[in-house]
Amino acid sequence: MQGIQNVGDRKHVLVLGGNFAGLGAAQKIHDYAGDKVEITVIDRKAYLDYIPNIPLEIFEGRDPSMTMHMDLVDALKADGIAFRQAEVEAIDVKAQTVSVRPNERPGAPVHRIGYDYLVIALGARLALDDIEGFAEYGHTVTDAFHANRFIDYMKHGYKGGPIAVGSARFQQGLRGKPDWLPTALAACEGPPVELALSLGHWLSERGKGGPGNITLFTPAEMIAEDAGEKVVEQLLAAASEMGFHYMNKVADIKRLTAEGIEFADGRSLETEVNLVLPNWKPHAFLKGLPISDEVGFIITDLSMRNPDYPNVFACGDAAAITVPKLGAIGHQETEIVGRQIAKDMGTMPAEKADAPWQPEVVCIGDMGGGKAFYIHSNSWFGFGGDMQILKMGRTAYAQKVLYKEAFFRNGGRIPNWSLPLAEWASEKLPF
Ligand SMILES: Cc1cc2nc3c(=O)[nH]c(=O)nc-3n(C[C@H](O)[C@H](O)[C@H](O)COP(=O)(O)OP(=O)(O)OC[C@H]3O[C@@H](n4cnc5c(N)ncnc54)[C@H](O)[C@@H]3O)c2cc1C
Repeated sequence: MQGIQNVGDRKHVLVLGGNFAGLGAAQKIHDYAGDKVEITVIDRKAYLDYIPNIPLEIFEGRDPSMTMHMDLVDALKADGIAFRQAEVEAIDVKAQTVSVRPNERPGAPVHRIGYDYLVIALGARLALDDIEGFAEYGHTVTDAFHANRFIDYMKHGYKGGPIAVGSARFQQGLRGKPDWLPTALAACEGPPVELALSLGHWLSERGKGGPGNITLFTPAEMIAEDAGEKVVEQLLAAASEMGFHYMNKVADIKRLTAEGIEFADGRSLETEVNLVLPNWKPHAFLKGLPISDEVGFIITDLSMRNPDYPNVFACGDAAAITVPKLGAIGHQETEIVGRQIAKDMGTMPAEKADAPWQPEVVCIGDMGGGKAFYIHSNSWFGFGGDMQILKMGRTAYAQKVLYKEAFFRNGGRIPNWSLPLAEWASEKLPF
């Protein structure tokens, strides 16, 4: 292995991962800490994958591998942030080094890179391969490959049979879990709700059936429980009126078979299509580190720092407190990371950097036909919040599409006005 140190007298901030959390954190650190730091982002791919709009793209007839990839290097270059394409293989927090294997060409050795600050934004492994029978009998939309495979089947192979849509059980780590953070049985249930609604519309439009073909299921007491009880009750009432079926407390997906789907609670459904979201599992090399919980998510407090290694931060899906695993929460966390590093660099006063923050669920899901649902809520977390906003209609759809456009046009930087404007439009405008 070779040692690489490249910082001169500036502090070297190494950001692992360059999707929503990694890019956002690098940009915030640059904004707030300026030339006190030198930032390097490492990712195995040189583009940002705009995952949340993959379902919308396939239902509207576009290929997400053509429309949802944003050039990461260009976005970073605008701020003078370095990018290195490599597979991250190990982290040594005591030695303050990360082992990476360049992956532009096969055959590269492992190199070691040193850091003063480390930001772990590596997301999670979407463990489809843990679901028995998935390869033969399962579909998903978690990436462009699977989304294209699914829509091809629906267009050319679908016989009009029953469809199950839902999540496998999320195995959340409990070591270091703060009391305010509930234990979730599903990692992120905006997507299954969105998928059921937009697929129902897609089927109706094409004369292939409709909401009545679809059963939405959840391992939990209530689907999308992080959105708050009032919101979910309204969503479920609307869905049931449209004809969707619903099963709760299935515990987990036991297996997928030629006949259908079997659940861990003993129930099963005869299905033609199983459209599933897996467990969000931490990357294997993160498990067993002194900064990780027992499954491998990175332990942080609300300042996104690891309590034992305060120069190690995590944000986005890789962080243990990011539950649900929602890009919107990761986005809120990148702001905190930027502020904290700026505080250490002396470029932001402590009272501003330490301003209290609590996570909020913000989710916009496509419903098909130019409509979407918008959820803004904080009642699930144990901070005593009581906000539970649900809106459905064309404004929310416009926000979903425009947000992505603004994101791509501005290299991931959403202008400061656009978030409050989106919130105002979604919450105050008549639908
Ligand atoms: C179908 C679907 C719909 C969704 N819809 C929404 C939504 O509407 N709203 C919302 O807020 N959230 C949504 N989410 C969740 C959202 O996509 C995630 O929360 C978000 O992508 C997390 O961002 P991240 O940067 O933390 O992780 P990721 O997006 O997973 O990025 C991790 C990055 O790290 C890189 N990486 C990982 N391991 C390595 C390694 N060993 N070496 C090098 N690089 C590595 C990856 O290449 C990737 O670029 C949805 C998720 C799915 C699956």
